[in-house]
Amino acid sequence: MFKALLLSQVEGKTHAEVRRLDVADLPEGEVLVDVAYSSLNYKDGLAVTGTGKIIRKFPMIPGIDFAGTVAESASERFKPGDQVILTGWGVGERYWGGFAQKARVKADWLVPMPTGLDAKQAMIIGTAGFTAMLCVMALEEAGVTPASGKVVVTGAAGGVGSVSVLLLSQLGYHVVAVSGRPETQDFLTGLGAKEFISREEMSRPANPLESQNWAGAVDVVGGSTLARVLAEMQYGGAVAACGLAGGFELNTTVMPFILRNVSLRGVDSVSCPQERRVKVWERLAAAMPPSAYAELGCAIALEEVPQAAKDILAGRIQGRLLVNLNL
Ligand code: NAP
Repeated sequence: MFKALLLSQVEGKTHAEVRRLDVADLPEGEVLVDVAYSSLNYKDGLAVTGTGKIIRKFPMIPGIDFAGTVAESASERFKPGDQVILTGWGVGERYWGGFAQKARVKADWLVPMPTGLDAKQAMIIGTAGFTAMLCVMALEEAGVTPASGKVVVTGAAGGVGSVSVLLLSQLGYHVVAVSGRPETQDFLTGLGAKEFISREEMSRPANPLESQNWAGAVDVVGGSTLARVLAEMQYGGAVAACGLAGGFELNTTVMPFILRNVSLRGVDSVSCPQERRVKVWERLAAAMPPSAYAELGCAIALEEVPQAAKDILAGRIQGRLLVNLNL
């Protein structure tokens, strides 16, 4: 028997409950993993609270990422004892996910743990940090370098935002953090942010073109914030857009694109090809300073996930929340 957070639908509402399940209850798959850690991401918040249409069928074990040890494998790629990471692929949405002590999944969804990382560190990074590195790589691929100018990160005190601040500053960029929470400034300074802008200021309606402030941007907020970021990009700048914490709409003009050569790069972590995943995890293992893990995240038990899910949607979580399956 093992412990899992099970979501069900009761009178049209999502109900979350920690239950004891049998391994035989797990769906079919090639690899059985003893999950050590999962993490709480914004999407998990939507799923567990039933706020967004994240869950495609019930009952469902949510948790869009996990790290742990292979217990059984029908795949040649993995053997018992191997350390593995999973993010995305619809796990925790369409397929049973990481908020459980055991998970059975397709071998193709797993990435071997890179040298230098353990399960706890991998989930302090989690989907949010994986996405942050995808955003950094999108900016690099668009030609943005530390010499190009300042880089702005929106939703900076959240998961994707905080890891983006850390990674960009580690790589030598001058990082400007946008946050709605002034009390997170010490945390963000510790991660390497050099300047701060309030959420209010960055979400004010923008003219088609504003003064040219940013060589690069990581945007997790969307809506009027992304519209302003685009209007403030300097000539040849690039924006990596990955989130919608402030809204999914985007009212903008073509002006930044056609007069300033700005590019808007979409970033998706869920269906990221396997080869790129391996590269992203290797870069994360190399780029993360060991001292950052304690700063970035704290751990909760499975029983605390339903309340934490409400907190992440209310923007009350600083950095990353780990879910320790052995607490
Ligand atoms: P998170 O930890 O909750 O961070 C989101 C941050 O956005 C909050 O901490 C807050 O930062 C800011 N924020 C929240 N509500 C806002 C609002 N109404 N207006 C403006 N800013 C607001 O969530 P996360 O896990 O980092 O995810 C962030 C976003 O990225 C979500 O939309 C998520 O769905 C998306 N995401 C996308 C992918 C992908 O593959 N494309 C992967 C992971 C995440 P401050 O307190 O600092 O203002």
